[in-house]
Amino acid sequence: MQIEPNSVVTLHYTLKDNDGNIIDQSEDGSFLYLHGAMNIIPGLENALSGKSAGEEISVKVSPEEGYGVKEDERVQEVPKEMFDSADEIKVGVQFHAQSPDGQAVVVTVVEVKDDAVVIDGNHALAGVELNFEVKIVDVREASAEEIEHGHVHGPHGHQH
Ligand code: ZN
Repeated sequence: MQIEPNSVVTLHYTLKDNDGNIIDQSEDGSFLYLHGAMNIIPGLENALSGKSAGEEISVKVSPEEGYGVKEDERVQEVPKEMFDSADEIKVGVQFHAQSPDGQAVVVTVVEVKDDAVVIDGNHALAGVELNFEVKIVDVREASAEEIEHGHVHGPHGHQH
């Protein structure tokens, strides 16, 4: 069957940057997601629509269709006293914070000054062009429960 909304798709993927460095790849050979439920980035989901098991595709995804463009206003300097444990604040440390509109975001420390810390709320892959090589392994219909939950259940999928 072809990939359409409410298909459960099993695939192998390798994700590389424009220099050919591997950023990510499916572990143990497979990755499952529910198509049409925003489980994966839009650029990849759109490219997979209508494809079938056995097909292999290469997809280049722009930042706009991937993890977004880098936004300067997401880089902020905050006073060090805002942190409970200032000793643990080092460049590269990531923590969870809340954006002004209430969304959970991962923030990365990019610079530590004497009395302030510069944090970056952009996704680590914001502004990066993504090059996927994908092999579609299996396509099946989602169960009613999976559709209701918006994710895949069962082996290698979401457990609960
Ligand atoms: Zn569930």
